[in-house]
Amino acid sequence: MKDHNQPQYCSHCQQAIDLSGRYPRRICNDCYQLLTDKEGRAIAYVNDDFSDSVQGFYTDVNPPVPYDSLTCYINESAFRAEEGRFGGVVVQHLPGVRK
Ligand SMILES: [Zn+2]
Repeated sequence: MKDHNQPQYCSHCQQAIDLSGRYPRRICNDCYQLLTDKEGRAIAYVNDDFSDSVQGFYTDVNPPVPYDSLTCYINESAFRAEEGRFGGVVVQHLPGVRK
């Protein structure tokens, strides 16, 4: 891959993160903690091993309430959650999409 030796940066805060050529616009773990819905409520995603899908939850209530969208936000920027190739959750910036 052409850019294999290039460092990769979080698509939101620009800090250096592990190289992931498959996910060029992924965000770092710090920014993952900042994800919200459109109204600014805190959300998080989990990888559901049974359905092979990613499910969002509101984390400001206990027990957590499902958030049935893969689109999430940090301030005015939009992001999309997806299942990682090797498990887990990958969140990538949605270029050109604003809240
Ligand atoms: Zn970041």
